[in-house]
Parts: sequence; C-alpha cells; structure tokens
Amino acid sequence: MRFKVKDIKDFKNILDQVNNISIITHYNPDGDAVGSSVALFHYLKDLNKNPVCIIPNPLPKNISFVLKDVNYIIAERDFKTAKYTISQSDLLLIVDMNTNSRSGENLEKVIKETSCKKVLIDHHVKPDKFDVNFSFSDSSSSCEVVYNLLVRMTGKKVFSSVISTALYLGVITDTGSVSYSNDSPEVYMVLSNLLKSGIKASKLHQQIFDTYSFDRLRLLGYAISHKMRVFYKQRAAFIYLSKKELANYNYKIGDLEGVVNYCLKLEGVDFCAMITEREDKIRMSFRSKDAAIDVNVFARKYWNGGGHVMASGGKSYDSLEKVVETFTKQIYNQDFMPHE
Ligand code: 5GP
Ligand code: MN
Repeated sequence: MRFKVKDIKDFKNILDQVNNISIITHYNPDGDAVGSSVALFHYLKDLNKNPVCIIPNPLPKNISFVLKDVNYIIAERDFKTAKYTISQSDLLLIVDMNTNSRSGENLEKVIKETSCKKVLIDHHVKPDKFDVNFSFSDSSSSCEVVYNLLVRMTGKKVFSSVISTALYLGVITDTGSVSYSNDSPEVYMVLSNLLKSGIKASKLHQQIFDTYSFDRLRLLGYAISHKMRVFYKQRAAFIYLSKKELANYNYKIGDLEGVVNYCLKLEGVDFCAMITEREDKIRMSFRSKDAAIDVNVFARKYWNGGGHVMASGGKSYDSLEKVVETFTKQIYNQDFMPHE
C-alpha cells in the first residue's frame, strides 16, 4: 500500500481547517465498515475534533460492542439528526464504500447536497473521485487502509486499545480470520501491531464469532441441509431463503453473515451465491475461490452490484422464484466464467 505524499499532505491540510466531521459508511454495515469508522472516530476525537459516525441502518449485535464511547447516529432510526449532522459538517469521510450510493438512497441524497470536502478511505475497486482518495483495492480491508493511514499521519505504529480493537474487528472479519486471498505478510504485520496495544485476540474472536443465538445456528443448519443447490459439473452452488423462512427462525440482522461461505467449503465448488428475500428486494451475495472467476464483474454485469474479485453483492427487484430461475440459467451458461 503506497500512499501518495500529496494525498497525505492534502488530508493534513484539510484536517487543520475542519472541526465537524461526519464519518459515513455503507448500508448493512459489517465489521470492517464499523471498525474503520470507529477507529477514525477515536483518532479524530484525540485531535480534539468533533467527529460523528453516521451508520445507515442497525448493525449486527455481535459487532456493536465497538460503538462504546462513540458518538454515532443510526440514520434509519433518526434520519433528521443524521441529515442535520451531515449538513453541518466541514468534512465527510466516506468509509468502506467506493460510491455514495452504497450508503442507501436517502443518505446519498443528503451527501449530494453538501459542498464540504470529502475524503474516501476504502478498498473496493473502481472508486468514485473525491477530494482525496485513499483507495487500495489490493488491501484486505478498509481497516488495513485506516491502520496504514494512521501510521502515516502520526508516525506511530501502535495505537490505543480502543483504536486497535476497532481495527482488529474489521481486519479479522473482512479476511475471514486471515483465510481469504488477501492474506499478505502486511496483514499479519498490521495484526501484530494491533495486538501490541494489549488487546486480547482470542477474547475478541470469541466475542465476534462465538455469540450465535440458537435460532441463528438452526437457520444455518436449515440453509445448508434444505436450501443449498449444488451444480458439480459447473463447479457452482447457491443457497436461497425466503422472507418466510427467515421469519421462521426469528431472523435478526447479521444472522446470515458468512452463510454464503459454506457453499465454498465443498470440494469442486469454486463459485457460489446466497439469494435472500428481504423486505423490498432480493439480496445477492457472491463468492469465488478461484481468482479467474471475478464475482465483482459478474455482480456488476448481471445483478446491479459490485465489490471485490472474490466477494461481491448485488440485488434484484424480481420475485425470489424468478431470481433463482435466472441465476440457475446463468450457472448452466457459465456466465460467471471469464469470456472473450
Ligand atoms: P456481502 O455479500 O458480504 O454483502 O458483500 C460482499 C462484498 O461485496 C462487500 O465487500 C461489499 O462491500 C460488496 N457489495 C455487496 N453488495 C454490493 C452492492 O450492491 N454493490 C457494490 N458495489 N458492492 C457490494
Ligand atoms: Mn470492507
């Protein structure tokens, strides 16, 4: 990760001139989105700025512990305050998303109406242009980007335990506990420096991953044993779940986190999806364990989404049945394989 000297200088100049800062992340916030926002919050607070985290909608219970002592607004619950806060900001930090629309339609509109400076801190491909872009698509997580940014900003390598906890959360969730493809030596170095703050990795790991409700574990079992379709010839699989099925298991936000990855545990399966019926749309998650299968391209081309080469998402406003039918055809057509 190479920061441009000019970008660091520009960011320092901007920080010198601002006080009210909104840190905005993507809809359906995950560990990386919240972790990078919270780490930036504490960094800015220590600089005597007035930061606020704007989180589009409620976050999973197992990651909400990082919000302790953080000034934050859940926009979906209190849109008026979120809108007012953003409008009064001197600077917006756009975190863990490559475009404002990922924060949802309502927040996107509010961001568009502002004229203040905007700085992007992200690791998704094809980012929009902001006043400063700290965008590294080869980075494991936005938290890894934030860590390296703070190193450049402060000259230090070890930070407070609150900052380190937030960054640990994002790195560890976005890398599947350092099991995905972005498992560079640099990631281990970042984790090592985070642990030097005194935080306990095993305890945090437990807090993040071993806090399922019984309903959540039963939903996982049901999804795998009843709702997984496997296409060995095409090296593909998917899980699909209706609103009703989610309700049967008393679904809570975050309960499906990571479920899509179970398809890739199958030997001979390189491409998979999870298709879920939500309130107003069908949500799609795509994963690949073969770098030749670019699910970012697939999601952009067919499902109104995007993300990374090996993990992406998309959506559809068709019925669940129609989406399953279309997606099954795409598997038989091998639409996820590189063409040309
Ligand atoms: P997930 O399947 O976990 O929701 O998302 C996987 C990755 O794809 C995440 O990095 C997420 O940011 C990205 N992603 C998910 N949905 C979308 C989408 O609708 N548009 C774009 N551009 N990226 C998405
Ligand atoms: Mn991320």
